[in-house]
Amino acid sequence: MSNRAFNFNAGPAALPLEVLERAQAEFVDFQGTGMSIMEMSHRGAVYEGVHNDTASRLLKLLGNPSGYQVLFLQGGASTQFAMLPMNLLTEGKTAGYVKSGSWANKALKEAKLIGDTFIASSSEEDKYMSTPDVSRLQLPENTAYVHLTSNETIEGTQFREFPDTGSVPLIADMSSDILCRPFDLNQFGLVYAGAQKNLGPSGLTVVIAREELLKNSPKHLPTMFRYDTHAESNSLYNTPPSFSVYMMNEVLKWIEEQGSLEGIEEKNREKADLLYQTIDNSGGFYRGCVHPEDRSIMNVTFRMASEELEKLFVKESEKEGFVGLKGHRSVGGLRASIYNAVPYGSIKALVDFMNQFQKSHG
Ligand code: PMP
Repeated sequence: MSNRAFNFNAGPAALPLEVLERAQAEFVDFQGTGMSIMEMSHRGAVYEGVHNDTASRLLKLLGNPSGYQVLFLQGGASTQFAMLPMNLLTEGKTAGYVKSGSWANKALKEAKLIGDTFIASSSEEDKYMSTPDVSRLQLPENTAYVHLTSNETIEGTQFREFPDTGSVPLIADMSSDILCRPFDLNQFGLVYAGAQKNLGPSGLTVVIAREELLKNSPKHLPTMFRYDTHAESNSLYNTPPSFSVYMMNEVLKWIEEQGSLEGIEEKNREKADLLYQTIDNSGGFYRGCVHPEDRSIMNVTFRMASEELEKLFVKESEKEGFVGLKGHRSVGGLRASIYNAVPYGSIKALVDFMNQFQKSHG
């Protein structure tokens, strides 16, 4: 389809064209039911089939580790910033937060409203242009969990490796890089992600957790904020975001069709390398924001000599069919979000545009 934009949005973001077309084909009549998936009861067998299949496909992609459960929730990753400490940061405990940038700080801010926290590691001194050192974390005995943000969507950093926190559960906000590469779920007590980058459309938040972490919500918590409510009811305590779950199901099938998560990672690295090389080979016309070893393969952040030039870059790129290249309003600059579904061809087109722009304005 030639009228598709070169979509570099940070989220909601590009979805695989094949997924959109499949959804379109069964939009008004899902599997011969005479109804859209959006129109049917979440208590019916057809929807429940899709719901359960989505959870099992996700776990399968992560190697089917034993003892983990998937929850489908709402309220975005932002709600998890609060729900996590509400459930796990109980009286007498403290939680360690890795301060890696904007999203990590939002998670920490919410946790502070709930209980005791400490900063386990931070890259604030480096203006968040690197990932914090997590190789020697000092954890008090009463640490409930350690929280990190695997990929900082705004600054453009990404952890290469995750710390071994022993018996203390490691928790990750993987909103902007889940399934961009393989990872060992066994290293984590709980991971969560808003779906609207690598998993599907907005409206769905995925939590994957060790079953024992979903069992002991404090008694005083209201029903909807309790992990145990959703774990015990297979995420069907109330109406789930059924269309988003269905779309995620299609995205997971698409990932399976790409081969493995190793294969997905290889493609993502090729895309990111092409873009970073263009930045690095521009003689300083484009400047990467992040230390090379901590650069994200999902969110590529860069700057130019002046804000005026950056504005012009965005304006001219839009004329050429590029979308979403303006950096986050809190940090400025430029950002290309290149999630799983952004095709290599879009990156190639962007690189051509960048080279052309440098020729005319360099
Ligand atoms: N964490 C990260 C790493 C994110 O990128 C985002 C959204 N951009 C959020 C949390 C917040 O997600 P939501 O909008 O789903 O609340």
